[in-house]
Amino acid sequence: EMEMKVFHVVIVPFAVHGHLLPAISLARRLATHPRFFVTFVLSQHRISGARSAVSHLSSLPSSFRLVAIPDSVPSHAFGYGVDEGVDSVVAEMERFRLMQQPFESLMYDLMAVDAFPGAPVCIISDPWLAWVQESADKLHIPRYAFYPSQATVLATLFYLPVLQAQGRLPLKASPAPDNVEECDEELVVRVPNLPPLRNLDCVSVLLETFPNHIRDAYVGAWLTIPKAAAGVLVNTFYELDTVPFDALQDPSLNPNKIPVFAIGPLHAHSNLAHPTSETAESSNFVNQVEKKCLQWLDSQSASSVLYISFGSLFLPSLAQIHELALGIEASEQFFVWVLRPPPGTLCSTEKIDVSTILPEGFLSRTKERGFIIPNWAPQRLILSHPSTGAFLTHCGWNSTLESICMGVPMVAVPQFADQRLNRMLIVNQLKVGVEPRRSADGLVERGEVERVTRLVLTGKEGMELRSRAKQWSAAAMKAVEKGGSSDRNLESFISKMEQLSSKNL
Ligand code: UDP
Repeated sequence: EMEMKVFHVVIVPFAVHGHLLPAISLARRLATHPRFFVTFVLSQHRISGARSAVSHLSSLPSSFRLVAIPDSVPSHAFGYGVDEGVDSVVAEMERFRLMQQPFESLMYDLMAVDAFPGAPVCIISDPWLAWVQESADKLHIPRYAFYPSQATVLATLFYLPVLQAQGRLPLKASPAPDNVEECDEELVVRVPNLPPLRNLDCVSVLLETFPNHIRDAYVGAWLTIPKAAAGVLVNTFYELDTVPFDALQDPSLNPNKIPVFAIGPLHAHSNLAHPTSETAESSNFVNQVEKKCLQWLDSQSASSVLYISFGSLFLPSLAQIHELALGIEASEQFFVWVLRPPPGTLCSTEKIDVSTILPEGFLSRTKERGFIIPNWAPQRLILSHPSTGAFLTHCGWNSTLESICMGVPMVAVPQFADQRLNRMLIVNQLKVGVEPRRSADGLVERGEVERVTRLVLTGKEGMELRSRAKQWSAAAMKAVEKGGSSDRNLESFISKMEQLSSKNL
């Protein structure tokens, strides 16, 4: 039989956690496939800075190679593997710009290699990195975008050329009724073949309330994708939300008909299937506190614990932290809470003293029922632990997908970015979560925290949410199995690679 060609792909992630972790999962998925060799490009400072993410890289197979390229920013700019606020995203973009030159030199070197793994057949990069498209065009190599969110958000971003041409950007952010049918036309986005969306529910960077320089960079990067990219790989699966995927096939949204491959959930391929403190013991990326947390979970009963996290970027206010604490206490339920210093607190993320940010006496009153983990939790291990019963989440896409995959229902408290659209999927479409009411100033108050915590952990409604979440979890696993939709999409991506590499011969 003829020997199968191995495709060398270059992955350039955007190195904030919500983008880097799924890019690592993508790298793992491809590198464990016999047809791929992966070169993964990071800046030097990121490799020394982001402990929690980069330690995942150490367990990758030999068909994976990490290449560090220089940038001119000192590594002390980064903390304990946690990104601090939206500004860190902008800082990271600036830093990444500085990588264009070294990246192009690297590409010239890689393209000159005849020996294994041969010249790269394509570049896969984050949509934020517009300059990668410039480099790809210059080097005459196809660039695929890797998008770590859901299909509805992707569809709205494919609609940006139209919104731009109509002079609708930035989107007006005036208060609008909850019901889209009651909103003024200028407060509604009508993507062809999709239900109408309120401006306020779209990706927050598009709104007039967001800083202009970030929006310009973001919109600029997205305008090039339907035009110049060879395709998009998405970390979700077709069955989860078929409407936007079908909309993305239509020329009204995708005039060049660039292929969109749903190949997720990618982390389903990692080796975290049955974590307990014992398996964590043997894992090389779980530290002492994280092990203690998993041991604590081992001693709880099934589906009894609420896991609380707001992801790697958003920091809840001190007032919100207090309302959460008092609400959980009143609910008398069990919890694991990832706690980071709220904005404006002068304590370093590394040596955070949680007692200073919690209500007085809270820690001693809840010590039997709660485990507080400062800064960073082994989230996937926690979510897949049988004791975890629900997830109070900011609805970041990775958190959403991880929760769905583990069959854990959610309490949805979206903040910014794509989180409001993710909330709509969780609460309205899939019905695997509830959204607490907020006060006029956006707080989820203690009584409401108490109510939803009881609802998801003890109520009949909670059981229904959980059983639907389990069904979606099964659907997610089916999608990535041999013959499942994501597996077949990966096969079509491989066929594209065949075509590309035979063209290059
Ligand atoms: N994460 C984690 N521990 C934490 C916080 C986050 O492992 O304490 C991981 C989480 O599992 C997810 C990613 O970081 O994979 C966060 O991505 P998401 O899209 O949910 O939110 P973002 O951080 O981008 O707002």
